[in-house]
Amino acid sequence: MAVAVEVRGLRKKYDGGHVHALDGIDLATAEGEYLVLLGPSGCGKTTLLRTIAGLEQPTEGEVVIGGSIVNGLPPRARRVAMVFQSYALYPHKTVLGNIVFPLKAEGLDRTAREKQARWAADLLGLGELLDRRPRQLSGGERQRVALARAMVRDPQVFLLDEPLSNLDAKLRASARDELKRFQRRVGTTTIYVTHDQAEAMGLGDRIVVIDRGRVRQVGHPVEVYDDPADTFVARFIGSPPMNLVRRSSTLVGFRPEHLLPAHDVAGEKVVLPFAVDRVEHLSGDRHVYGTISGFGEDTRVISRLPATLTEPIAEGVHDFAVDVRRLRFFDEGTGRRADPMPVTTTHG
Ligand code: ATP
Repeated sequence: MAVAVEVRGLRKKYDGGHVHALDGIDLATAEGEYLVLLGPSGCGKTTLLRTIAGLEQPTEGEVVIGGSIVNGLPPRARRVAMVFQSYALYPHKTVLGNIVFPLKAEGLDRTAREKQARWAADLLGLGELLDRRPRQLSGGERQRVALARAMVRDPQVFLLDEPLSNLDAKLRASARDELKRFQRRVGTTTIYVTHDQAEAMGLGDRIVVIDRGRVRQVGHPVEVYDDPADTFVARFIGSPPMNLVRRSSTLVGFRPEHLLPAHDVAGEKVVLPFAVDRVEHLSGDRHVYGTISGFGEDTRVISRLPATLTEPIAEGVHDFAVDVRRLRFFDEGTGRRADPMPVTTTHG
């Protein structure tokens, strides 16, 4: 049965209180959920995961696994499996030997251990590779051995800290897909750390965006992308990020893919004169760079045109537009979402 993980009022200070790695985190997974922690380097993701695992003690707050407070319990007793970015396999042991190893301290007899190890190996599609040594495996296969080794004690919770970052881009994509299918099959609650937003968007049932030890937003990937809670999330998620234009004390935001030639936007829209100075071609899409004026402060923005829009865009001023439903408003002072401000729109 899948269990939920919860943290309440979690704080972690280092260096005599100078570093607030976690600055009051409240968070709860659903049972069997795939929760992704996303944030820039140093925001506290690893510290949060290590605190849940029991490898760090919080300065304040509680960690709850399966309904019980586990503060003070050693990692082993929490029944969590953690896979780090740099997992080390034993080079002289076979795949089976590596996977079986964590069971040696469990007091199982040899047959029971091997049975359990084969179960984990099969789950991860390693059944044919049990006699190989790590150096005879691809990066992705080694990664799976590390996962099988974490899986073998049948943990209640998986804690994964950038487990794919040693793989090249292509392998990463397939390993990501494998990981997701594997988790669906076993249904174990998983908390996954990454600073890669594409990975977060692809894997997470929900994403937790963290900045400087605080949660900025928790939501389904689409929600976090479409409705960022503040300007940090708006800028951190999306590549290129959301455009933000200052208009008195409000920042008006819109995604690059929503800034399009005016005649390609149907319905109620805001027309923006766009002085284009550069066009970049990127695998079918075009990124168009320039400055919009006449709508708050003159601001450099980016438009992303899909491959289906083939009209040429030359340097110079063009009428671009954004569907009003795509505009997001933020308070300039706090960065939080603000009430929509009136804007002049046209139809058609
Ligand atoms: P990355 O993506 O770079 O791994 P992260 O989001 O996982 O970063 P953490 O490793 O959790 O970040 O670190 C959070 C903050 O706490 C950082 O400012 C880091 O320098 C600090 N920190 C982490 N561990 C310690 C430690 N043992 N002593 C002092 N400061 C620490």
